[in-house]
Amino acid sequence: MNRLAISGGQPTRNSLLPYGHQSIDADDEQAVISALRADLITTGPTVDRFERAFAERVGARFAIAVSNGTAALHATMFAADVGAGNEVVVPTMTFAASANCVRYQQGTVAFVDVRDDTLNIDVETAIRAVNAKTRAIVAVDFAGHPAVTEDLRSFAKSRGICLIEDASHALGATMGGRAVGSMADMTTFSFHPVKHITTGEGGMITTNDPDLATKLRRFRTHGITTNHVDREKAGSWYYEMIDLGYNYRLTDIQCALGLSQLGKLDRWLARRRAIAARYTERLRSITAVRTPVVLPGADSSWHLYVIRLRLDQLSVDRGAIFSALRAENIGVNVHYIPVPWHPYYQNLGYAKGRWPVSEHAYDEVISLPMFPAMTDGDVDDVTTALEKVVNAYSRSC
Ligand SMILES: *Cc1c(COP(=O)(O)O)cnc(C)c1O
Repeated sequence: MNRLAISGGQPTRNSLLPYGHQSIDADDEQAVISALRADLITTGPTVDRFERAFAERVGARFAIAVSNGTAALHATMFAADVGAGNEVVVPTMTFAASANCVRYQQGTVAFVDVRDDTLNIDVETAIRAVNAKTRAIVAVDFAGHPAVTEDLRSFAKSRGICLIEDASHALGATMGGRAVGSMADMTTFSFHPVKHITTGEGGMITTNDPDLATKLRRFRTHGITTNHVDREKAGSWYYEMIDLGYNYRLTDIQCALGLSQLGKLDRWLARRRAIAARYTERLRSITAVRTPVVLPGADSSWHLYVIRLRLDQLSVDRGAIFSALRAENIGVNVHYIPVPWHPYYQNLGYAKGRWPVSEHAYDEVISLPMFPAMTDGDVDDVTTALEKVVNAYSRSC
């Protein structure tokens, strides 16, 4: 009766539920139209307004808007003076960009393993990986769970190492009551459509350090000291390019969308938290599934809801469960392939097998759909499909 869709049965849903999706309302559209009608459609006043509102939201002194989250990471590597001969500690369980930014600056990536519960960087392992060449540590807030601990902060500070938080997943998350974006030396965010708020493509860096903020701003626009508005105001044509920067600017059009989206963040965070709570409640009885761990003091922003399969209770591997869920029209995903396993890093000589926790977790993880517009009925479809698939493949004797 409950034949799996992958074996010709009726799928749990008639249409695919994606794993993530943006929410764009009429007021977002209106904000973009207004920005299009303004005098300046890039590097105008809306960039400033978005940066100020964002900084205030995360409790940071400065926010610098850039063209995407990867550009944000690249800028932090530049500001931290990463270069050839330097090392940067990066966890394996992340998107490739968290490590690639080190390579853009010719630095060496020192990949470290993650802790088994949150899949965030293992602080003790990270500390052991630090040597005289270490310039920075990147802590990635996996799935939205804050990764920066007091131990990591005080260690980095005592050794003069720059602590960078890749908070692409963690806008709105807090740790010990402190907002992500206010804790590390520099924190990066992404506004890709699957993230908490979107500008199409976009990114932000926050910092409390005025010198870093100045370097980041320059890097965003060719390493040039002034912007065109300031030059016009001063009635001057003169400018200097003092660093090799890039064009990593975000347009006023995009910042108008970002500002409009930011106003809805709290509502969306509440919805993500409610979806996570419903998943956890409904998955409690499925013993072949482990639900995500939240550490005391942490408030996750739930970018992703990542389950772990207990493979010893199943007759098939993660790939088969994944395919069966997709056939049920549940848009599951996998986060992440350990970054050093990618051919680019394999060709640089990173042998597999050195990061046992993440390499083992990779076999077990499945990301369930998670976005604010999901209804309770959508959540229930996911757990119903998961139960159906797991029961069909359970190793019961
Ligand atoms: C999305 C993401 C990025 C890159 O952001 P883009 O805006 O897509 O460039 C970097 N790191 C992590 C962990 C991400 O999830």
